[in-house]
Amino acid sequence: MSAAHEAIVPWLASAWQVWANRLAQQRVPHGVLIAGPAGLGKREFAAALAASALCTDRRADGHACGACRGCRLRSAGTHPDRYGVTYELNDRGVPRSEIVVAQIRELSTKLVQTSQLGGWRIAIIDPVDAMNAAAANALLKTLEEPEPGAIIVLVSDEPMSLPATIRSRCQRVDARFPPRAAAREWLLARGLEPALADASLDLAAGNPGAALALAGKAERALAQEVTRDLAAIAAGSMRAAEAAARWHKDQADLRLVIAAQAVRLAAWQRATGGSEVFGLTVPGDLHKLGAWWDRANRVREQLATPLRADLMLLDLLREWRALASVQPVR
Ligand SMILES: [Zn+2]
Repeated sequence: MSAAHEAIVPWLASAWQVWANRLAQQRVPHGVLIAGPAGLGKREFAAALAASALCTDRRADGHACGACRGCRLRSAGTHPDRYGVTYELNDRGVPRSEIVVAQIRELSTKLVQTSQLGGWRIAIIDPVDAMNAAAANALLKTLEEPEPGAIIVLVSDEPMSLPATIRSRCQRVDARFPPRAAAREWLLARGLEPALADASLDLAAGNPGAALALAGKAERALAQEVTRDLAAIAAGSMRAAEAAARWHKDQADLRLVIAAQAVRLAAWQRATGGSEVFGLTVPGDLHKLGAWWDRANRVREQLATPLRADLMLLDLLREWRALASVQPVR
């Protein structure tokens, strides 16, 4: 595992400095919202922030020392002042597809208790946009009545789907796409050859995390297959069910990363007047492409739940078929 300081990507380095200073000066706000697309280092930032808050011997750069009692408990996953809220099992042992109010209430109860180790208490809610309405209301109440010494970190790929009242109560860290050169440099530092870095960035529409995930030979072959599938479904020459079954059987997660990025790229190419690989014929339907991109990312998050992945994939690809207006295939 890499050291904590390597986990902060260069495009979040200045944001990290701000937080390191805040922690050093004990001026940390109650709510922190780390927002932006997947693949840009948000979760690593949240983890580093929590590690730093719980460390009793923080380094000069603000990162956790990795050796103190707080650090040891944290890396063992047993720190009593660190709480995680995410998808959870329901009473029947089945993972839920949303974060429910009981989870937020339980967290609030924990946060009013005194710190077990005498330092910060820190909670990470991820993905916070998976909260249902009741859970969001409960979280808003907690944010409105801050407990001294408690930090609530919210992680979201889709911050716009959060209530504005929650967003406005948090200090924000925005993970944005870095400039192409910075993304490329980051990939080169990870050992990618320049040509591969460029090809992967193209494939990932400039998202460095996605580009890294797509950089292997097998991944590139898979990317070509996924792009071909989407084009064939759009053209009406392949049934959504056929592709859905194949995707379900093999690397559904990575295929969805690829599909989302490919559609994002197509939307961008359409928006800038270029031609794109799918030959979509619905003019001005960028909004729908954006919605499909969101939906693909959501389905990917839900693959880890026992929701029927095969049916979700089928729905998603049928939506794609409906979205892509059909030209007669010759
Ligand atoms: Zn430490």
